Amino acid sequence: MIRRLLARFWPGRATGEPKIHRPDEHPVRRDQVSYAARTVTRRLQDGGFKAFVVGGAVRDLMLGLEPKDFDVATDATPEQVKPLFRRAFIIGRRFRLVHVHVGNEVIEVSTFRAPQKAEDATDEHGRLISDNVYGTQAEDAVRRDFTINALYFDPATEEVWDYVGGVADVRARRLRLIGPPATRFREDPVRMLRAVRLATKVGVAIDKRTAAPIPKLAPLMANVPPARLFDEMQKLLLSGHAAQTLKALRAHGLAHGLLPLLDVILEQPLGQKFIDVALAHTDRRVREDLGVSPAFLFATLLWHEVIVHWNAAKAKGEKPLPALFDAMDRALEHQAQRIAIPRRFEATMREIWSLQPRFEQRAGARPAKLVEHPRFRAAYDFLAIRGEAGEVDAALVDWWTRFQDAPADEREKMLKPEEAPKKKRRRPRGRGRKAREGDPAAPSPAPESGDTA
Ligand code: ATP
Ligand code: MG
Repeated sequence: MIRRLLARFWPGRATGEPKIHRPDEHPVRRDQVSYAARTVTRRLQDGGFKAFVVGGAVRDLMLGLEPKDFDVATDATPEQVKPLFRRAFIIGRRFRLVHVHVGNEVIEVSTFRAPQKAEDATDEHGRLISDNVYGTQAEDAVRRDFTINALYFDPATEEVWDYVGGVADVRARRLRLIGPPATRFREDPVRMLRAVRLATKVGVAIDKRTAAPIPKLAPLMANVPPARLFDEMQKLLLSGHAAQTLKALRAHGLAHGLLPLLDVILEQPLGQKFIDVALAHTDRRVREDLGVSPAFLFATLLWHEVIVHWNAAKAKGEKPLPALFDAMDRALEHQAQRIAIPRRFEATMREIWSLQPRFEQRAGARPAKLVEHPRFRAAYDFLAIRGEAGEVDAALVDWWTRFQDAPADEREKMLKPEEAPKKKRRRPRGRGRKAREGDPAAPSPAPESGDTA
């Protein structure tokens, strides 16, 4: 019985007819689709092609949520799509898509594509390594991941076309893989991550049969290229439900091994607390539409790994600051093996980290200088998270909260007395007495006071 049900949605049987749901059978109205997406589908249809809004947008609208963006699927090839629009660009090498610009919006237009036959393009674990063939709409539906992600909405007729039972799953609020779950997860292990992320994000339950193979297949995440993992992790962490999603990942046995950075963190009591605070902070900002910098977020996620390396280097007798810089290198290198954090983020992460010891210095001209630093705001927010996690004294955070907004005479009064200069720190070493901009100045008191991990 289960076998028969599964067979209905087996990629090999992708020639099926869709169930077409008329407007009175579902809640999605054309005016919920962006002007740009309506323009794109209309122009394609006027050109004699099929065109539908697909994927996440239809899923979100069906569930009563607001879509983030609109993707369009069509039977026109990229070469046929492009000339229909004034500002359209063919992108992608492996699978070509068209980005159509309408006003400020970019609509991603993809040509229906077929699922690859498993035997000719998978690695030894069953992972798909290419998927580059155009196909029919029915084939396009079954190569997608979850049934609720495979619905097609036509803004002209307000019909929803369903090849895989997605409408029923929307109604049951159920996330179900199309086809046999183990095979589909093997083809693309990122789907495990997507299952947990999407279920949490849109508030549906993962179907039992879909969830069942996850713990056993979780180790396959190790074969996913780091850049791809970064994209999915970024979506996960910036979803506004990061804390909850990570909890779910752990419940499904996906957290360990998947993210070495989390493995390290979760083994340390203070690290755990730090991550909880950081994710709660991020989720709050996302939900309040305040904007979150991925660099800041990854700086928080890796901080305790930096601390581990930092402590190890100091224990070997390295001076605190060179030790910190070494620790940052090591943490970033180690992480890069699994999740490729883009270089442009790394520079910011390093700045945020390297400014932390400077918050310990509250005498002389240094605090005022730190406030002027271009990364002060991010570094201060980071310090606040450390404070909330119990890693630095709340009084220190409070001092900086007041100091940055205080008028000059107030600031003067807040300064701590200058400590007697330590002779050995006066000796110019290598790069001279004046620390480079962005480096922590030679700290007194020692930065160890800030890290209790
Ligand atoms: P979000 O709203 O978070 O962007 P989404 O479902 O739109 O979620 P995208 O990554 O934008 O996610 O993907 C768009 C669509 O492409 C999905 O709805 C799904 O139909 C298909 N898709 C995405 N990733 C996969 C995958 N790994 N395997 C099969 N189909 C996928
Ligand atoms: Mg999307």
